[in-house]
Amino acid sequence: MAPRSHLPAIMSHLVSPIGYLRSCFKEKFTIPRQPQLAPAARGVLELLPPFDQGQAVEGLEQVSHVWLLFLFHQALEEKPRLKVRPPRLGGNRSLGVFATRSTHRPNGIGQSVVRLDKVDAGRLWLSGIDLLDGTPVLDVKPYVPYADCLPQAHNAIAETPPLAIPVDWSEPARLQAQAHAARLGEPLVELIGQCLAQDPRPAYQVPEPSRRYGVRFWDVEVRWHYPRPGRIRVLEVLPA
Ligand code: SAM
Repeated sequence: MAPRSHLPAIMSHLVSPIGYLRSCFKEKFTIPRQPQLAPAARGVLELLPPFDQGQAVEGLEQVSHVWLLFLFHQALEEKPRLKVRPPRLGGNRSLGVFATRSTHRPNGIGQSVVRLDKVDAGRLWLSGIDLLDGTPVLDVKPYVPYADCLPQAHNAIAETPPLAIPVDWSEPARLQAQAHAARLGEPLVELIGQCLAQDPRPAYQVPEPSRRYGVRFWDVEVRWHYPRPGRIRVLEVLPA
């Protein structure tokens, strides 16, 4: 077996992006912790040559979902971590890195099952994504329900999806979001509702009603606050 110190040279020869994702998520804050939690989260995988030729995606139109293997390019670290603190456990309990889906991991490889909405030569139109804009994608594989869906499987650390919290809208914010949605041709109102319902605030922060939070989706900036803990009100949706 090659010693670990020899691997980077071999890997850089063998592993390189097959494309980059153009995603609704322009920053890490508010990206759901897993795919499928925000079905309105959309993006386009732009394939690089030679995979931008139609032949590379022939047959994929028969598939509803694909696995994306990708690089957590904004979380790459020199020193491998053995234990991590998953946000799901409130950020104050640590677990072995291999027991989690943390972005801080050896080789920085992520994997997500996402919906394949449309296939063009050189472009895959995806939804239900949990990937940052500009993410380098290493491979795409069809989801195979009989092998990939295991009804008897369990995971006591993450048995159910995170609890969603109610999201209210100020009337101006809703109108602003609807106008930007029409301009972008994107389900922006749903995207904002689905992502904020995941309560993106760090678990250790007590959300004072006076504190404003903000994030960018596509080319708009969304601002909100917590009128009381466990409830979000969207205040503004402005051009970023
Ligand atoms: N489904 C994937 C997996 O299990 O490997 C990702 C799970 S990871 C917990 C999800 C988080 O990764 C998102 O909330 C987002 O903050 C972060 N993320 C997404 N794309 C990233 C990227 N390219 N670089 C760094 N972090 C990223």
